Amino acid sequence: MPAIRLRLAALVLALGGLVLGSGATFGSSGNGLGTANARGAGPRPGAGTGPSRPLQIKSASLTQDGQDIVWRLELTGPFSPGALAGDGRSLCLLIERAGTGSVAGEVCLAGPKGSSSVPRLFYMPITRRGVGRGRLVTASIGRSSNRELSARFLPSAAGLAYQPLRWQVISTLRPPGCVPLVPDRAGCYALYPARPTLVSLSTPLPTGCVPAGPALVFNGPRNQRVVALTFDDGPWPSPPTSQFLDVLERYHAVATFFEVGEEIHPYDPGGGLERRMLADGDMIGNHTWSHPDMTRLSSDSQRSQLQATTATIRAASGFTPCLWRPPYGAQNSGVVGLARSLGLITVNWDVDTVDWSTPGTSTIYQRAVDGARPGSIILQHFGGGPRYQTLAALPQEISTLRQRGYQFVTVAELLGLRLIYK
Ligand code: ZN
Repeated sequence: MPAIRLRLAALVLALGGLVLGSGATFGSSGNGLGTANARGAGPRPGAGTGPSRPLQIKSASLTQDGQDIVWRLELTGPFSPGALAGDGRSLCLLIERAGTGSVAGEVCLAGPKGSSSVPRLFYMPITRRGVGRGRLVTASIGRSSNRELSARFLPSAAGLAYQPLRWQVISTLRPPGCVPLVPDRAGCYALYPARPTLVSLSTPLPTGCVPAGPALVFNGPRNQRVVALTFDDGPWPSPPTSQFLDVLERYHAVATFFEVGEEIHPYDPGGGLERRMLADGDMIGNHTWSHPDMTRLSSDSQRSQLQATTATIRAASGFTPCLWRPPYGAQNSGVVGLARSLGLITVNWDVDTVDWSTPGTSTIYQRAVDGARPGSIILQHFGGGPRYQTLAALPQEISTLRQRGYQFVTVAELLGLRLIYK
């Protein structure tokens, strides 16, 4: 990987300009990138002489756990994050782009602030112009001994997406503590592991959601300009459910899909559509097994309608829903209470497009955009009959509502429900 190593050498020069202050600010003189080409053969970069050496790393790992990145670090001896800057040291996670190997940023350890005893992390983007200004990473940081540290944070806090990346830990010590054999403004440094390591961060799929609040809802809070698009009665072949997902992806909108249990095996046998929904940020709800009027069933039948559907969604996708929608909107306190005892909130709607009657694309569009208010739940269908009109209305619905200042959320987001990961 010569390209990666060269770029890393260039980075180390850039880090020489890094001022590791005692407070929250990290600055940079912002030059040095690109000058590594001048380096010839000679002593190992980073090696040096002097009274001290960079802190030596015994082991390090970077893994994904649900939504979080977990960075674990073990040194060969005790270390104090609060003493790093004063000692002329730094301990950072270098983040490199998986494709090109170019350095994207670094996450550096700093001491606690004020009366806290918890170390802090700062993220600094690195570009051709040098190291950017640091910003505090919201992280959960723990130490099981004075040689170790583990930090858990969301990728977005370190400028990352759920994509593959390469990483290394870099430990530096500036002169006079260590004088590099090769003149190098970064001083001496050690890298662990020796070569950048690939880790594939992937979009975490929720495994469930936590029901809370009212057991029956028709809309969400009216104080925010958000709406929830909902689609019932699929999965379905005409048009294929994937085409609804395509439109939502293209327009960067999310929706909630209430699925009929008995349609899942015929039209989404491997759960691929459901996993795609979850990866896209969409939400899946339970729409009973065979779409009966639940108010006409015995409580045993009601229970099995809901449980069989939840079990099928879970088996196909790994996700356990916490929302259900009664077919025809037909509900009473008995079925709402039973559903709640099964962990399901009953979700009806306040905007009905009546798209199931195929009134024409422009009518469906008009009903959706005219009816929408802050917090609205908009009812449409992705199954149970030909839904080409509904699909055709969707792009313009999204565009118009967005022009009117609405953001799209799932029903779970609308109700402020917490999702579970792993
Ligand atoms: Zn339905």
